[in-house]
Amino acid sequence: MPKESFVKELSPEQVAEIDACTQCGECLRYCPVQEVTKNPDISPPEKLRVYREFIKATDSLKARLFGRKEIDRRLLEEFTKAIYECTTCGACGQFCPSGINTQRLWPTLRREMVKRGLGPLGSQREIPYNIENTGNPYGKPMSERFKGWFPEWVNLKDTAPVAYYAGCTGAYEAEPMVRGDVVVLASLGVEFTMLNNEEEVCCGFPLFITGQHDMLQDIVKRLVDSYQRRGVQYLVCSCPCCLNMMAKDWPVFYGGPLPFKVLHITEFILPILRKARTRLRRLSGRIIYHDPCYLSRGMGIVRAPREVLRSIEGVELIELDRHEKNSRCCGAGGAARKVFHENAIAIGRLTIDEAVRKGADRLVLSCPACYAKLNEAMEGYERKIKIVDIMELLAEALSGAAAEMVTTSSRGGADEPF
Ligand code: SF4
Ligand code: SF4
Repeated sequence: MPKESFVKELSPEQVAEIDACTQCGECLRYCPVQEVTKNPDISPPEKLRVYREFIKATDSLKARLFGRKEIDRRLLEEFTKAIYECTTCGACGQFCPSGINTQRLWPTLRREMVKRGLGPLGSQREIPYNIENTGNPYGKPMSERFKGWFPEWVNLKDTAPVAYYAGCTGAYEAEPMVRGDVVVLASLGVEFTMLNNEEEVCCGFPLFITGQHDMLQDIVKRLVDSYQRRGVQYLVCSCPCCLNMMAKDWPVFYGGPLPFKVLHITEFILPILRKARTRLRRLSGRIIYHDPCYLSRGMGIVRAPREVLRSIEGVELIELDRHEKNSRCCGAGGAARKVFHENAIAIGRLTIDEAVRKGADRLVLSCPACYAKLNEAMEGYERKIKIVDIMELLAEALSGAAAEMVTTSSRGGADEPF
């Protein structure tokens, strides 16, 4: 389909956004892939310029009057590679004077390439097959989803107003993070439910972000119906990518508003934590917090994680140069790490370098992909820092206080803090 329209997947706003790039180059200062590859052929303005050419060849007035031009296959393949080498971190859009929402635009252009049979790339193609057969994009056994990390002492309810969704990357690649989530919820006295290891399947983000949409409607409907059957009013999760998917894309694939509210775990626990504060154990050391792209730029959540960290007495919170909505990607985003592994490691090491240089004892994260990739980036690297998830750290501060919490703090969101 080389002569097919290139605007079919795009909203009118996105067509206007592609046209709005002035090639000013401002975004180049913030793109992590540019930082490590220095390759202008895969830069945001170049991708937008090339895509504009595609639109011109197939959708301009001239193309409509005199016939669409065929686009060279090699050019399409190069563009496809460029669009998949991006981590979809959205930093380019954050600083774009033309206001281009790149974190939403790049996945749409990937979708266009998938429809033309050009994307996704490499092992990204296995994602639908793995999800179909195992419920997760890694192809790991469904029976092991909660194995080895779910604390035996935590009792789940069959039905409850609050549900916790662990997500695939947390459950299989960042177990201390999801263990921390569950320990914190239980220690704060929250009564919650979870789907079992056959029901809790991938949220769909890896499919969405790689442009492979075919299974999405089924997955989303299945998950939403399962939570609805359990009487859920608040769905809590810690993975920023899952959260984005649930908040922004589940309603689209579900076909209407969700019957529950989706919340990041830091937002959910904050009101409960404020009451429990004096019961936190004092910790020590300098911590530095890395804002995950889909939590900060994607969902705009930068305050709640910091408030959670500041509630732990004895620790000194310091900031990376680029923080909050200006944060630098950890290198793992957008499923790019599956194909462009070296970029991901090189980008991850930039954050490790800075955290070490600033004298932090621990690098605090709030994303399972960051957690897995930054740990991997330290393998064989001379600089090391202890990596800890925000809930893992809070669980440490709550340890020993759990029994008291259960009897004194609000249960199951009964305070309606939202
Ligand atoms: S989304 Fe991030 S990685 Fe992709 S082009 Fe923009 S700044 Fe670069
Ligand atoms: S900052 Fe925006 S307008 Fe400027 S080159 Fe980048 S995408 Fe284009």
